[in-house]
Amino acid sequence: MTQQRIAKNQDAALLSVTARIGMVMATLLFCTSASAAETHGLIGARAAHVAASTPQAPVAEVTAARLEVSPENAKLTFDLSHAVETSAFVLADPDRVIVDLPQVDFSLDPDTGKAAVPGRHAKKTVAALVGSFRFGLLSAGRSRIVVDLQAPARIVRSSIERDGDKVRLVVELAKTDRAAFRLAAQSRTMQVASVVVPAMPALATAATSKPTIVLDPGHGGPDTGAIVNGIVEKVIALEFAQTLAKKLEASGSFNVVMTRPDDVFIPLSERVRIARSANAALMISIHADTLAEAGDVSGATVYTVSDKASDAAAAKVAAKENEADSTVGVDGQADAVDVSDILFDLTRQETRAYSHVFARTLVNYWKVAGRLNKNPQRAAGFRVLKAPDVPSVLLELGYLSNTNDAAALTSEEWRDKATSRMAEAIESYFADRHGAEKAQAGATIPDVAMPPARPMTQASAATAVQR
Ligand SMILES: [Zn+2]
Repeated sequence: MTQQRIAKNQDAALLSVTARIGMVMATLLFCTSASAAETHGLIGARAAHVAASTPQAPVAEVTAARLEVSPENAKLTFDLSHAVETSAFVLADPDRVIVDLPQVDFSLDPDTGKAAVPGRHAKKTVAALVGSFRFGLLSAGRSRIVVDLQAPARIVRSSIERDGDKVRLVVELAKTDRAAFRLAAQSRTMQVASVVVPAMPALATAATSKPTIVLDPGHGGPDTGAIVNGIVEKVIALEFAQTLAKKLEASGSFNVVMTRPDDVFIPLSERVRIARSANAALMISIHADTLAEAGDVSGATVYTVSDKASDAAAAKVAAKENEADSTVGVDGQADAVDVSDILFDLTRQETRAYSHVFARTLVNYWKVAGRLNKNPQRAAGFRVLKAPDVPSVLLELGYLSNTNDAAALTSEEWRDKATSRMAEAIESYFADRHGAEKAQAGATIPDVAMPPARPMTQASAATAVQR
């Protein structure tokens, strides 16, 4: 079923690319036309998906959480307003305990569960069994608690307990050996792999010819992203995206689709899928970085995807952001869109070139809002930027670990200014692109703003087909 849907998406993507390039030979067109009818099937599937994932109201509230821990044992207690059904299991690499619940409202400080910084007098002995825990909305109707283990553990009990009118979820863990842990983890991995069906955002109407911009606030739900001094990356990213969405919509020039409209977890591959099925003309992923060891590093950086990272720091950022799925115990291996089709390669090439053009435009406009990293345009293997047919960039707004950046990122005034510049950058990019496409249609020299990679010529296409 998933396979089928991917195949249909690819076909739909190929069709849209074919229309865009406008120069592709008839023989290649023939390859895609057979699947045109299948795109209707996709629309039907999408409608069903939306109905099945209507957001639900929380069934209970979590009002407090406590962790008691030693090197051998751990006990997590969550105070609940109502009893709920829960299930708990372990996952390896990294080692975690996952507790799944129906949708609950976590009325907790975002810092709750964060790893305690060892005190000055703490002796370097054996690590506590649990390092930290995270929590949040996993998908419509489902919440999740993720407990990070520092040693293999078994679940002694995970149960709802009543004490008078008080209701608590109690999770007790005890140290176990590596072999027993692996065995327990393996028995659950298969079940976890296909569990997430996140909410599909309302799609922009296809009736208009406005370009669709997909805004992708990073992280969400139990995946908080970076937390520094109570500033939470997932919150900063969402607020920024919401403000930008309003401005883009107000301009009347764009349709805007958000990969997540609120504080919910969306797997990386799903974010890519949302952009592709919305036929997005541009996808912007929004994050905020942190560098604990270098508080003087600051400013925004715009990343594009590349098989080879532009520098070691960029590779590190990509590795960190790519961990989002495993952070909450979701299998992130199923996003490969590996097609060795010539049209697909061309599309990807063109898409990457457009991504570069937009990254450059954004950096130029961002200068006015200030706070650019000293090396503001970089590339690395970000999984969320891998849509082969949607130009995509990932914007790290700044460093939460830098005092000046943190002050800017939490300021409404700064957000207003930065999103205005960004909306202008987006307008400018589409104005240039539109102009260049027009110029090309008239067989004149392409605008200088056009990327270097261009649609193939007849000769190059013929060579490629022979290969
Ligand atoms: Zn991030």
